[in-house]
Amino acid sequence: MWKNLVKILACPICKKDLLLIVDEERDNDVIKGYLYCSRCNERYPIEDGIPVLLPLDQR
Ligand SMILES: [Zn+2]
Repeated sequence: MWKNLVKILACPICKKDLLLIVDEERDNDVIKGYLYCSRCNERYPIEDGIPVLLPLDQR
């Protein structure tokens, strides 16, 4: 996932901005990590560069 993409992504539940936590990155691409919503206290995983922005019950 391109790092700057976090600026246009929002929490699917509350639409608030997400915080990007990077575990692994390559050439400004996030390979592994997660997006965090501080309002919902919810984490959305980034797996193989793909952000999984689904509420828990839809995964
Ligand atoms: Zn939220």
